[in-house]
Amino acid sequence: MDDMRKELFYEQKNGYDLIDAQERLELEDYCQGYMDFLNDSRTEREAVKNAIAMAEERGFIEYEPGMELRPGMKLYRNNRGKALMLAVIGKQDLSHGAVIAGAHVDAPRLDLKQIPLYESDEMCFFRTHYYGGIKKYQWVTIPLELHGVVVLKSGEVLDVSIGREPCEPKFVITDLLPHLAADQMKKTMKDGITGEGMQILIGSVPYADEGKDRVKLAVLSILKDMYDISEEDFLSAELTAVPAYDVCEIGLDRSLIGGYGHDDRVCAYAELKAIFDVEEPERTCVCILADKEETGSDGVSGMQSAAFDCFMEDLCQSQGVALRRCYEKSFCLSADVSNAYDPLYPEVSEKRSEAKINYGMGISKFTGARGKSGTSDASAELVAYLRRLFAEKSVVWQLCELGKVDQGGGGTIAMFMANRNIDTIDAGVPVLSMHAPFEVVAKFDCYMTYKGVLAAYSDK
Ligand code: MN
Ligand code: MN
Repeated sequence: MDDMRKELFYEQKNGYDLIDAQERLELEDYCQGYMDFLNDSRTEREAVKNAIAMAEERGFIEYEPGMELRPGMKLYRNNRGKALMLAVIGKQDLSHGAVIAGAHVDAPRLDLKQIPLYESDEMCFFRTHYYGGIKKYQWVTIPLELHGVVVLKSGEVLDVSIGREPCEPKFVITDLLPHLAADQMKKTMKDGITGEGMQILIGSVPYADEGKDRVKLAVLSILKDMYDISEEDFLSAELTAVPAYDVCEIGLDRSLIGGYGHDDRVCAYAELKAIFDVEEPERTCVCILADKEETGSDGVSGMQSAAFDCFMEDLCQSQGVALRRCYEKSFCLSADVSNAYDPLYPEVSEKRSEAKINYGMGISKFTGARGKSGTSDASAELVAYLRRLFAEKSVVWQLCELGKVDQGGGGTIAMFMANRNIDTIDAGVPVLSMHAPFEVVAKFDCYMTYKGVLAAYSDK
């Protein structure tokens, strides 16, 4: 009878029962590199900058339209410093399609408003407008650091980073003491902290004169010393406050990684490492690091932008191939995080269908909400292809959905790729506390996601 069970039942195993000591070492090594990348990539701009530096070290060069393409050539295209596309040219031309992996490098955060600075009762604050889906109460009383750019009227771009270095000051949004929070505590978690209430404390010492707004003046004089800017320059700035936590190992066994921005830099890094490890692939490999996923993928740097089509069309033209022919033969892993089953909140998940920590790369045939609204829903043929591929390449993976049927849902860039007539499936790392200032992933799943993308890139 047990033989029959073995033959007929679908059972999954904990990933650590499936790898040997050697692979555990490789996994640790991979994750160390990822932790360093995440620590230094606090915004989409920084992620793109770091990715370009890594790519150039490995022989990637900036693509210019019209370049003659040779198999094995390594190229990248920087989309306005906020999104990036990399390609390794295949032995076959693009009429055979490309193998694409797409992740995003933006993450939920607190953007400063364009007129952010004000003083109240001799304290100085930045007003914010949050970006992406957040639970606002999680973002108060935690250390914040400031990143971004100020673009002067002249067009000069000033890079801003305050708080990343241990010696630098941090910022914070305050909250009520419990002693006086009786009314606040009656509110729902959604309304306990309001969007307008998310104001960042940035100073308290008055300027030594008799005028008004002395603390604001003192803060502006510090900024003048640091960056030679005035209040008006915030009009054309993109400044954002992100959690000032360092990325770190979690658990006595150090099996997990805690940090800000795993969604979706964890998949971005997996793609990068995979495309760096590809040598003379059969089909052209493309790696996308997109922006604006958290706000719907609109805009010039989002996945709905024609920037991707332009890049692909340029490559196709160099080989005399029509873009639409390339797309219809292409395959895309839409690499984004999924929810990891959390035993603290079992009520939102149907356990058997939710991704589990340490069970490997998560594959979602479909995403969406309610009746799969907003999903691209990959075909059974595509899932079967991955079953074959991952078995061949010893990739530990799991099929997953996002929560119970009626519980909610989500989506990512998959539908925008599929709408281009590219066979696309969702794949990625399961995350605990997704969109929180401090998210948690399992090292095992990070490593297997890299292996999964590499398997797709290296397929004959
Ligand atoms: Mn995501
Ligand atoms: Mn997200």
